[in-house]
Order: sequence, then structure tokens, then C-alpha cells
Amino acid sequence: MYLVLLGPPGAGKGTQATALSRDYGLAHISTGDMLRSAVRDGTQLGKEARDYMDRGALVPDELVTAMMRERLQRDDAKKGFILDGFPRNVAQAEQLDAILEELDQPLELVVNLQVPEAELIRRMTGRRVCPGCGESYHLVFNPPKSLGICDQCGEDLIQRDDDKEATVRARLEVYGRENAPLVDYYNATGLLVNVDGRGTVDQVYERIRGEVK
Ligand code: AMP
Repeated sequence: MYLVLLGPPGAGKGTQATALSRDYGLAHISTGDMLRSAVRDGTQLGKEARDYMDRGALVPDELVTAMMRERLQRDDAKKGFILDGFPRNVAQAEQLDAILEELDQPLELVVNLQVPEAELIRRMTGRRVCPGCGESYHLVFNPPKSLGICDQCGEDLIQRDDDKEATVRARLEVYGRENAPLVDYYNATGLLVNVDGRGTVDQVYERIRGEVK
């Protein structure tokens, strides 16, 4: 199964993609995670991407598509994948089609998760992550046992720079601008299904599973 998950930042794409990848044996490919790890490792790509990410802007298409071209050729992706955070605009979608055509692996489904903006801001600004083990929490929906401390490894939790409110608003603004043409693009291919992203993680997961045949 070759699948794309679309949706605004904070819609739960990462959480849903993790569950789908576990249950369907798909490679979970998140451009946000790959870019954050490049920044952490101080690679050339990380150095070039960092500034854009801290501002909530998109990293230039040529950097992201080169990274994806390489990633999609690995063996695990050939067996099936779920893309989380890519494509983010029509130019990336066209590049993705070209890469997948070369690999002879056409997309089968595009799930568009829909969540109202006020709910997204509440979800993202409450998010906290552990810099030690990567575990994530939410101040309201999934708090750690003791305030500000990771349950798993005891490190102090932090807020990702791009989860701060000003950056969250900038990310939503970029999304608002780029996403409508992307939805039109995939609607025209007949692959797009809209899924209500409100409610609990399990409720949303069941809705998505209903679309994955
Ligand atoms: P995410 O975790 O998917 O919200 O991504 C975090 C940040 O990484 C975004 O705000 C962008 O700066 C960058 N990013 C992730 N995916 C892409 C993409 N497909 N194209 C451009 N920039 C991206």
C-alpha cells in the first residue's frame, strides 16, 4: 500500500502514521522527523534547513525532494509506505509522481485529515517532547506523571521551537496557502478521501482504517 497523509500541522498525522505503519507493515516516512534529525546531526542538509524550520517556513523543494528521492528507493519503502508531511505543495506532488513513476509504485490513497484551526493551536502549543528519548506529551491530553519531567527517562521536557505559538500560526498560514491546490491536485486523480480528524486518536484511526481497503 502506497499512501499519503495530508493535513495541517497538529492534525495528528504522525500519531496516525505510526499506528498505520505498525498495523499494515508500512514504512513511516516523515519529512519533518528526517529534517529534525538532520538538524540534530549537524549535516549539510540540516544546516540549510534549520532556519526555515525555526520560522515555520517550508524548506526549499529541491532539498526536500532530493531527500525523499533517496529515501523512497530504500528496500523498506518498496514494500509499502505512508508519507507524513510530504508533499506540502503541488510542485512536490509532481516531483513525487515522477519519482514513483520511475520506481513503478503509483500512489494508491491520499487521506486528507481535517481539523479546525482553534483545535490545532490548542493541540500544538500544549505539546512537549523529551530531548533524551523522543517521547512526546501534551499538557492537557497526555500529561507526564510529574510536571515537566519525562516518565521514561527523567529528563526535563522541552517545547519544540516550532510548537511555540507565533511559529504555529506561521505554519498554519503556510498550510492554508499551499494545501488547497494540493487537495485539488489529488481530487483530480480520484485518490483523495477526506477524514474528520476531530476526536480521540482511536476514533480518528478507525475512520482512516475504514478508507484503507
Ligand atoms: P512537520 O513536523 O511535518 O510539521 O515539519 C516541521 C517543519 O519541517 C516544517 O514546518 C517545515 O519547515 C519542514 N518540512 C517538513 N516537511 C516539509 C516538506 N515536505 N517541504 C518543506 N518543508 C518541510
